[in-house]
Amino acid sequence: MKTYKQIVKEYLRKLKDITHIPQKETEILLLYIIEQNIIWLHINYNKPCSIDTEQKLKKLIEKRSVNYPIEYITKKATFYGEIFKVEQGVLIPRPETEILVDKAIEILEKIENPTIIEIGTGSGIISIMIAKLIPTSKIIAVDINKKALILAEQNAIKHNVNNQITFLQSDLLSNISQDKFNVLISNPPYIASNFTLPLNVKYEPSNALFGGDIGDELLKKIIIEFSKKDIKYLLCEMGYDQKKPLNNFINKNISYKSLEFYKDLSNLDRGFILSV
Ligand code: GLN
Repeated sequence: MKTYKQIVKEYLRKLKDITHIPQKETEILLLYIIEQNIIWLHINYNKPCSIDTEQKLKKLIEKRSVNYPIEYITKKATFYGEIFKVEQGVLIPRPETEILVDKAIEILEKIENPTIIEIGTGSGIISIMIAKLIPTSKIIAVDINKKALILAEQNAIKHNVNNQITFLQSDLLSNISQDKFNVLISNPPYIASNFTLPLNVKYEPSNALFGGDIGDELLKKIIIEFSKKDIKYLLCEMGYDQKKPLNNFINKNISYKSLEFYKDLSNLDRGFILSV
């Protein structure tokens, strides 16, 4: 029988073209199958790996080798140093969205018992991190996708903040009767529909990625919905090329106190904070 070490060495080759960390990913898939952690693997590297485990690994490696996201295989993703459940049909958390959470925290820290509404909560990462970091906050998190809401609720329970967050199915704010919040936050779909996605992204739900023909259509709708309610701050993530059009749109449609655009770690425009 082959050892775990031999197995890892053999299968990582199949992932060389799709990831820069083929060994790490092979280990992650192996550990997912045998339900062990990396320390266990290092101790047992020279122990035999069962045929059954190898067969299962082979299947997962095949899946991964056509760019199927590893997060959908292991049903886990890391965001803000925490582990969240993910599944196909719901967007995988992106590291740049951590900046949006940081921007929200800066504002929310200064507000007593803040109330927040999130549009398009997906796996729930934004609302859940806010709830964890601001324990006095109360949040309504909406999504149009029922599957996302079920997942988000499971993540809120896992992180022990389900008492702070109400999850509701709603297309933008159409089902929300409450008129007053401190903050509206959203990482909506903002990619233009004719944009060719990288291979790994094509397995993610298009309704979480595409914002319309131009891309910023939903962001503009969110800005309008925000202006119709009594909300002081709007924080959104956006596409790298949407600063100018959104700046123009806001100036044309809203009278505001301040508008700040922020960049991501690649120095690309990535979002804005509007206060009225
Ligand atoms: N709010 C979720 C996230 O930031 C989902 C976003 C989306 O599906 N567009 O990951």
